[in-house]
Amino acid sequence: MVKLHNKYFKPFITANQIDTAIDKLVEEIANDLGDEIPVFIGILNGSFMFTSDFVKKYPKPCEVTFIKLASYEGVKSTEDIQRLIGLTQDLTGRTVVILEDIIDTGNTLAEVHRIFQNENVKALKIATLFYKPEAYKKDFKLHYVGIEIPNKFIVGYGLDYDNLGRDLPEIYQIKETQHMTNLV
Ligand code: 5GP
Repeated sequence: MVKLHNKYFKPFITANQIDTAIDKLVEEIANDLGDEIPVFIGILNGSFMFTSDFVKKYPKPCEVTFIKLASYEGVKSTEDIQRLIGLTQDLTGRTVVILEDIIDTGNTLAEVHRIFQNENVKALKIATLFYKPEAYKKDFKLHYVGIEIPNKFIVGYGLDYDNLGRDLPEIYQIKETQHMTNLV
């Protein structure tokens, strides 16, 4: 059990399970892309660990960069996502693979699509380590999904609860025996 601020979180996904999910994603993506040199774009802050572990395992040459888009306050996904750090790299004709920590409502993903519609990329692929199918409200295709999870709040492995918990090497799920009304 982990306590962050005044909330309790219980162990949910082990570091080994995360590692296995990343192996699977690396294999799928490397097979699909062949000898193409992709640009992997991690979405900060949440995907810094995932991106780092993913590219360390990627078996072929690749480029890596980051963009920062979303503010996520407390445990509710906010509707007004803002682009905070933009792209500096010319992506014309490139195959871009977005590395998302988690896809929840899909609002962040919609923003990613809006941003990339003006970049003349050859292909835009979406890879997410965690995916909440019950929460997803958009139609954008998710090309590569690591682990599907229920619609419950998680922390660890880059994901925070009010800025705490990003450093945890495994995933914890919020404990529901507490009063959920205090969470929003
Ligand atoms: P969406 O825009 O798909 O609703 O949410 C995507 C972003 O919200 C993620 O990049 C992440 O920052 C945040 N998020 C969504 N679900 C969770 C969750 O269960 N835990 C944490 N810590 N952040 C989440």
